[in-house]
Amino acid sequence: MDVTHILDGLNERQREAVTAPVGNLLVVAGAGSGKTRVLVHRIAYLVEALGASPGGILAVTFTNKAAAEMRGRVERLLEGPARAMWVGTFHGIAHRLLRMHWQEAGLPQNFQILDADDQLRLVKRVIRTLDVDEQKWPVRQAVWFINSHKDEGRRAKDVEAADHDVFGTTHHRIYEAYEALCEQGGLVDFAELLLRSHELLLNNIDLRGHYRRRFRHLLVDEFQDTNTIQYAWLRVLAAAEPGSALGPGAVWAVGDDDQSIYGWRGAKIQNIHDFQTDFADVEVVRLEQNYRSTSRILNAANALIGNNAERLGKNLWTDAGLGGPILVYSGYNDLDEARFIADRTQRWIEDGGSPDEVAVLYRSNAQSRVIEEACLRLDIPYRIYGGVRFFERLEIKNALAYMRLVGQRHADVAFERVVNTPPRGIGGKTVDAIRVIARANGTSMWQASKDGIASGALKGRAATTVGAFIKLIDDIAGAVENAPLYEITEHCIETSGLMAFHSKEGGERGMARKENLEELVTACRQFGRDLAFPVENTGTEESQASELEEFLDQAALESGDYQSGGPALQMMTMHSAKGLEFPLVFMAGMEEGLFPNTRSMREPGRLEEERRLAYVGITRAMRQLYFTYAETRRMNGMQSSNWPSRFLDEVPAECLEEVRMGGTVSRPFRAQAGNGAQDLREDHGGLRIGQSVRHAKFGDGIVLQAEGAGERTRVQVNFTNAGSKWLMLAYANLEILG
Ligand code: ATP
Ligand code: MG
Repeated sequence: MDVTHILDGLNERQREAVTAPVGNLLVVAGAGSGKTRVLVHRIAYLVEALGASPGGILAVTFTNKAAAEMRGRVERLLEGPARAMWVGTFHGIAHRLLRMHWQEAGLPQNFQILDADDQLRLVKRVIRTLDVDEQKWPVRQAVWFINSHKDEGRRAKDVEAADHDVFGTTHHRIYEAYEALCEQGGLVDFAELLLRSHELLLNNIDLRGHYRRRFRHLLVDEFQDTNTIQYAWLRVLAAAEPGSALGPGAVWAVGDDDQSIYGWRGAKIQNIHDFQTDFADVEVVRLEQNYRSTSRILNAANALIGNNAERLGKNLWTDAGLGGPILVYSGYNDLDEARFIADRTQRWIEDGGSPDEVAVLYRSNAQSRVIEEACLRLDIPYRIYGGVRFFERLEIKNALAYMRLVGQRHADVAFERVVNTPPRGIGGKTVDAIRVIARANGTSMWQASKDGIASGALKGRAATTVGAFIKLIDDIAGAVENAPLYEITEHCIETSGLMAFHSKEGGERGMARKENLEELVTACRQFGRDLAFPVENTGTEESQASELEEFLDQAALESGDYQSGGPALQMMTMHSAKGLEFPLVFMAGMEEGLFPNTRSMREPGRLEEERRLAYVGITRAMRQLYFTYAETRRMNGMQSSNWPSRFLDEVPAECLEEVRMGGTVSRPFRAQAGNGAQDLREDHGGLRIGQSVRHAKFGDGIVLQAEGAGERTRVQVNFTNAGSKWLMLAYANLEILG
């Protein structure tokens, strides 16, 4: 068996990992050391050299895009399709299990996935129904409560009494009512996908046995960002099946503790440690050579992450050569910063580079707009990841709701969404009446509408308008029977009046909505053919879902990586840049209060997570990295002036060089930074951003930012009890605490 093509292009350590005997293995290694590459090669090696069947392999990645890429790379190595192999995100795989085994999972066959936005609306409705004060119990907080319990594997009934303080009890009631509503309506939110598929495997002995015998090899990328339920899920699946001669499945995980950036969403770095004790005979492999970045970029990343206390500790090296310095640009405001980024990108393109080699990374989605405008001005093609996802846009969600209703009349979420969109004279009172009938009869709102008209509970204008809506949906459904997906979509958009309604909005926005609706039709045409939508074939276990249902599921699950069009500069948050690499990277908004963000400045644990995020950002760059910041910035309607991020201070000065418009100055930016930051530090006995202080009247607080110099220095302090205040430093008499 010639496996040269699989082992070529790997270093010795990487080969060791790829060719390890079947068993549990953990690769812990820094960014760009080839973890993902090794995982792909391992899959090929399993199949070609160790005779594993592709159907016995389950590989988990972080995004659908990464999954599509991984499948592509494996198939290229194997020189043939490997359809029976399961590759996907945890959510995608859990979803597939539930679709295939809906009955065993206690779900209706046509259960619906709730995306984040649907979930928020539903929780809002629950809060109203319970008569809870929405001011005191904000919807987002309740959603967070529900999701974080689900991520820990707890249903409403499992939430401990300890969590039932005044705060907990109300949330607990909301969780209970929400759970009941989902159960009744066959609705499944993202966290529920994982929780329920975990329960499915745990409780259904036959299924569990089947999948344990089937999946002999479980491979996980980005292991440091798995949460409790995902980890539990792996454990159930990998355990030995009692009475089977096969023994436990082999888990093969790669991760980097320094890149754990989803702690705020429940991810547990601890899983990396636990893995080594919870699983038998784990072989640990470390990779230290980085193949991605210049050594200057790598040195910067290593030095920065060295400031974190909680690390497994490792060092990366590269023989890629020193490379040019990391360039730092200080814009006088955010517009100037954006202009600079667009300018340098244009220069890159003029020098023969391609726009898709360039990435702009930021901490917050709100930063993208000005950069977008700067790109438009210079005619640089760009693409934004995340933000409002394509499938979460208002007009798209409306269209999807029509499509959903055409396929499934009993989909209440969709019904409520479009029953009066575009407006057709069905008021809130009528919808309330329908809801009451539905609840009383235990039916869907669709059925309740028909019943209400028949019984006379809906009469007059209400009966006419609701009746017309029902006829509209039935007519569309009749017209598109057996039609291809894109025709269904086209028909829904036109006949429902959505296209006319949204185009009427006028201006840029109306144009954009119209284009998006057209784009949706294009997406439907490509569905199943495009790699952005990997329709996974289950091999023997054919899924029964129609193309329409599959498309709607994908639309809810797909994590914002839908894209079309030619090469473009990519803008995204640092969070979504995980695992990716680009020749040219801009890290924008390197400012205290933005990155690290204000919240993390109060909690050391969170600050370390922000630093890991900075490490992720820096290590995306292959050849050239820019740090940019703005002296003043307008964001979310507020003007602020911030100091340069402490992360810039944590990068060795010899890695950096400041750029001035019109020429490069070879002095580190710090030497020139004669701003309020310096004054504050020197003149006022060590007062710094993040410093705890006490004020005679306002009590204790944390310094958020400062501006001005000397006598005129103003500081913004966030007081625990009094909220945030601007104070003249010279008169504030702040006492410095510990
Ligand atoms: P991250 O932590 O960011 O996810 P990673 O450890 O998964 O990074 P990869 O993305 O697998 O790293 O690899 C980084 C880059 O280095 C890729 O372009 C990859 O093709 C390349 N690479 C990895 N190993 C080698 C090797 N032995 N020889 C040449 N190039 C390599
Ligand atoms: Mg990787």
